[in-house]
Amino acid sequence: TVKTRFAPSPTGYLHVGGARTALYSWLHAKANNGKFVLRIEDTDLERSTPEAVEAILDGMKWLELDWDEGPFYQTKRFDRYKAVIAQLVDEGKAYPCFCSKERLDTMREEQMANKQKPRYDGRCRNLAKDDVDLTQDHVIRFKNPQEGAVTFKDVVKGEITIANSELDDLIIARTDGSPTYNFTVVVDDMDMGITQVIRGDDHINNTPRQINIFDALGASIPEYGHVPMILGDDGKKLSKRHGAVSVMQYRDDGYLPQAVLNYLVRLGWSHGDQEVFSVAEMIELFDVNNINKAASAFNTQKLNWLNQQYIKSLPVDEVLPHLQWHLDTLGIDLTNGPDISRLIPEFAERAQTLTELANAVRPYYCDFDSFEEKAAKKHLRGVAEEPLRRVKEKLSSLDEWKPEAIHDAINQTAEELEVGMGKVGMPLRVAVTGAGMSPSLDITLEWIGRERTLARIDQALN
Ligand code: GLU
Repeated sequence: TVKTRFAPSPTGYLHVGGARTALYSWLHAKANNGKFVLRIEDTDLERSTPEAVEAILDGMKWLELDWDEGPFYQTKRFDRYKAVIAQLVDEGKAYPCFCSKERLDTMREEQMANKQKPRYDGRCRNLAKDDVDLTQDHVIRFKNPQEGAVTFKDVVKGEITIANSELDDLIIARTDGSPTYNFTVVVDDMDMGITQVIRGDDHINNTPRQINIFDALGASIPEYGHVPMILGDDGKKLSKRHGAVSVMQYRDDGYLPQAVLNYLVRLGWSHGDQEVFSVAEMIELFDVNNINKAASAFNTQKLNWLNQQYIKSLPVDEVLPHLQWHLDTLGIDLTNGPDISRLIPEFAERAQTLTELANAVRPYYCDFDSFEEKAAKKHLRGVAEEPLRRVKEKLSSLDEWKPEAIHDAINQTAEELEVGMGKVGMPLRVAVTGAGMSPSLDITLEWIGRERTLARIDQALN
């Protein structure tokens, strides 16, 4: 059975690059009725933090990338790594190395001076039993094959071959016995039965080394797919400079997780010229073989466009839980106004983000004491007194607070004053919403309610 994994190092938040490889791994598992494993690679004790673990889990949950197994923590597996290291030493596939730091540094400097790639020269590889004193400080090195080559078929990059002469004997345990990164990854991928490793191509140089360790352990080697990195819109590697790179920042900035997933799946993968994919469609259509070979550039406008498509087309009850977060953040209490499900379709057309949407519905639930400057200047100051007074009179005496009656009241006011509807409507709009744009006035006023409408007209008249 297919089993994929996402294996983040908890040294920061879940960034878009990580989220994308997580999504690809998740989709590959889902598409093949497989399993998806979450593994936290927290062996770097200096850089890993519990906050980062939480941030990654939060990001995964927000995107609804659910895992079937885990989260596993590498720091909880040290006994297992030690056992495998002992086994490799026992079988003569790894060996203790006593070379001092000074010796290694000197060797390295000489190699660099001779324009050679720095590599361990293998001095301790074949020490005689008598020369091995395990009470002395030592690391454990993996005996990398010295002949031949490693070849693997990367599902993204194609066939890759690296001569073993390019690879030296990797340290798999440090002086304090703690296992190193390339080794723990292999033990985990083996133990967890991972069949496909989809990860960033910054790991591609590790792969031949990892494959040799798999071989030494007699384990079957997963298939690899190394995904090219994400660039900013200026062609440079995506970083904080380009704006939000943390997945949760996108939540804060008003994006729907569906839109972010859709954006991420397309960032480095395509299916014809289709742009909008539901999660079900992604699962059906995603194919690792169609991952782009070239790096992809992040494009915020496209993300905004997708976000708007989702805000417009998702059923209200799917948008609402996400909108709620923004309403809460802005202190908007939905019990203080009309049924929000009537407002959402009306405002979705104009909102690219949930933050914009929440701000647009705000006047329907919260009072305000200042007006949009430009609109107030044009439609309130000095021009609005007469129209507002008259329309207020009519509105306050309406039998029914219904769109049609409201419309007639505005219309009659304009007729009496012998002006266009706009000369009454615009001041009224700015007075009751604080802004120069809103849906049609009759429903706007209906939503705002009579009492509030009249109070707001008074506020504007003062
Ligand atoms: N822990 C690694 C990282 O966060 C990923 C390793 C892997 O996927 O093999 O970069």
